Amino acid sequence: MTEPAPPPARVDGPEAAPGAAPAAEPVIEARGLAKVYGGRPAVDGLDLVVPRGSVFGLLGRNGAGKTTTMRMLLGLIRPTRGSIRLFGRALERERLALLPRIGCLVEGPAFYPYLTGRQNLALLGGLIRPVSPEHVQAALERVGLGDRGDDRFGAYSTGMRQRLGIAAALVHDPELVVLDEPVNGLDPPAVLLVRRLIRRLVEEEGRTVLVSSHLLHEVELTCDRLAIIERGRVVAAGETRALVRPDEERVEVTASDAGRALALCRGLPFVRDARPASAPEGGPGAGAVLVALDGPRAGDLNRALVEAGLEVSALVPRRRTLEELFHALARDADEAAGDPAAPPGPGGEAAA
Ligand code: ATP
Repeated sequence: MTEPAPPPARVDGPEAAPGAAPAAEPVIEARGLAKVYGGRPAVDGLDLVVPRGSVFGLLGRNGAGKTTTMRMLLGLIRPTRGSIRLFGRALERERLALLPRIGCLVEGPAFYPYLTGRQNLALLGGLIRPVSPEHVQAALERVGLGDRGDDRFGAYSTGMRQRLGIAAALVHDPELVVLDEPVNGLDPPAVLLVRRLIRRLVEEEGRTVLVSSHLLHEVELTCDRLAIIERGRVVAAGETRALVRPDEERVEVTASDAGRALALCRGLPFVRDARPASAPEGGPGAGAVLVALDGPRAGDLNRALVEAGLEVSALVPRRRTLEELFHALARDADEAAGDPAAPPGPGGEAAA
């Protein structure tokens, strides 16, 4: 049986021009990256360019290949195929020289439970480069553990352990910080603290952060750029703003008969997509219709509906959310793979 062709990547933003060089040398450049486990590709020809001084998000469903990608980028596992350059240098050849420039939290570092948070940080940081007590205290403070540094790690809560993991990624002052699901297990104030910390690392300190998540809202708030990974491949990449505000007009229409409005919209030549906007239980006829238009055609849409005898009570512009993009890409990938039963999306939702 031949493998179904993967869907083409939708690339928006500056990466849309193939071969166009970014302004500065990228901090991460991976080309054709692949990792095969037991004949099954976990990562399958992935290209990734992370510019210096940005927060870059890797977004994908469970099992999409985010952690495997990060582990390859950190030199923790060897790619089956492909090349990785960090700071313009080949990872394979210069791994030892490159690693001190990188801090990471991938699958939780191994801390000693009987040592304090402070001692653990000094020990881990010191393996990479000498770290002063002031550096250790600063790292503790950055993650809100300034007054808990002398508690044993074994007595930390889940969220405190996660935050100490982030501190361990920062304690040796790296230029590139790689964080796999950094806000997992954190309460809302800690999520906010980590979000602000990540932004500060980039905006005020000029570092570069690569972060993975399946929390769409979090990625939208934190990341300047992102790549959406499906089945080990990048299916969309670019500036977050460009991805969630593509060059199409979207409106939500409330008409006297939503079922007829939906059918009519689907038949109009300037309508790219139309679907019920409300929860399916409401049923067509009860809810509004979400319509994606080919450019600024809301007036034409209104006219077509009114001329068909429908009463339009509202026509509201709607921004595309990252969640909608994510589900659309997941659906495309499932269809291309001949898998109509889409696996659950982030947060346990079924892909729309
Ligand atoms: P999650 O959001 O669940 O953490 P992910 O996007 O990080 O998912 P990966 O952990 O990279 O996904 O896994 C990608 C695929 O590779 C999965 O199908 C997983 O089962 C497989 N895989 C990962 N590591 C191994 C391994 N060591 N041996 C075999 N298969 C693996």
